[in-house]
Amino acid sequence: MSTRRQRSAGGVAYPDIKGTLHERTVQALGDQTLRTNLETAASSWAAGQEVMRRDHGMDEMRARAREIRRRNIRDLPALLGEMQANVRKAGGQVVRAADGAEACRYITGLAQARGVTVVAKSKSMATEEIRLNEALEASGIEVVETDLGEWILQLAHQRPSHIIAPAVHLNRGQVAEIFRREAGTDDVPDDREGLVAHARVRLRETFAQAGMGISGVNIGVASTGTVCIVENEGNARLVTSQPRIHVAVMGMERVVADWDDAAHILQILPMAAISQDAANYVNLITGPRREGESDGPEEFHLVIVDGGRGALRGTEFEEVLSCIRCGACLYSCPMWRSVGGQAYGSPYSGPIGAIITPLLEGPSSPASRDLPFMSSLCGACGDACPVGIPLPDLLVRARARASSPATRKSAVAFRAWSLLLRRGLTYRVGVVGWRLFVRVRGTDGWVTRLPGGGAGWTRVRDMPARWPPRR
Ligand code: SF4
Repeated sequence: MSTRRQRSAGGVAYPDIKGTLHERTVQALGDQTLRTNLETAASSWAAGQEVMRRDHGMDEMRARAREIRRRNIRDLPALLGEMQANVRKAGGQVVRAADGAEACRYITGLAQARGVTVVAKSKSMATEEIRLNEALEASGIEVVETDLGEWILQLAHQRPSHIIAPAVHLNRGQVAEIFRREAGTDDVPDDREGLVAHARVRLRETFAQAGMGISGVNIGVASTGTVCIVENEGNARLVTSQPRIHVAVMGMERVVADWDDAAHILQILPMAAISQDAANYVNLITGPRREGESDGPEEFHLVIVDGGRGALRGTEFEEVLSCIRCGACLYSCPMWRSVGGQAYGSPYSGPIGAIITPLLEGPSSPASRDLPFMSSLCGACGDACPVGIPLPDLLVRARARASSPATRKSAVAFRAWSLLLRRGLTYRVGVVGWRLFVRVRGTDGWVTRLPGGGAGWTRVRDMPARWPPRR
């Protein structure tokens, strides 16, 4: 399977959202197919969450999951040291990369040194974050995504739009069209089984050719140096066992202390992510193949990426490090459900993406100014999070960080506003005055233009001139 063949799928009718955040959002909102696809996926997830809560005690499990992740983050330096030591004891190699560039340099250097020409990858948000595929391809190494959703997006030249369901924004017909373009034939069925069978045949070739398998890591267990990879398709099992080298890329915060911690997180993760009480596959990998074993790679490398995470410990944003990347906050967010992940322009979308992307990319990035405002602050994400991250609070803090310092004029205005609201008499006088003002200003019961500082409000919405509004 050549990269050139894979890239022949141009011109397919799928959402390809570009431009600034505002432009991407407007474009996404205008795409009815995209909105239908997202709503279908989110509604099915929501129905499953009801079952998880009612029949599987998911709500009761949250408190323990939160305690585990908070403790893990508090103890992170020690856990990372223990993890490293145990991976080495099991015969693996460990690299700590300060940033994505360092991680990419190590992995491309390793591939070149071992004469690898084809890499098989399983799903990994960390590798999306560090742009590993681009680095490998720039070194002349072919990369094939083997997760079905990721492969679809690779063929469509798109980036994932969801943490665990990368092609959730596409429907079956769109996927069939992408496959037909790539295969150069109309002879690809568009029923679910037919599409999966087509992908399976095409991807099996890759496992036979690949000299290196690259995976992400859902959880690293410090006490044994084991990496846990959760999946639903079985491709990660092949990626981590068929090629002679396995490289696992792990964000530094993904370590837990022991198997008690791991068991709880491995249970709540699929519940929150896909509304199932167990994942289809949980791969537990400790070092490379040992003497006498028939499966597994000859070499195992664990690349632990900091990428700005370490600096978040001890700050008001520390709790984002507890994230187990389940995607529940995305499905629960009315903004994400309306525009999808691609509009965010970052591997991490939805509420967690709106918080973590600016933190990882730095205060001067465009994401830092815009993304924290991609939320209605309705609180649904906080309720959905299985590890109890206070996402709405963190979004407000991220907004405060993104806003320019108050001008003298706005400071005076807010001071006057605060004085007005704090006293009963001035509040009541203010309300009566405001009612009169909007009534005089309204036309047909609505105010469509306010002067001065109110102009921004009425530029995108009308205001009722009396209450209740008359339509
Ligand atoms: S913030 Fe919570 S809900 Fe969102 S992906 Fe992370 S763990 Fe899941």
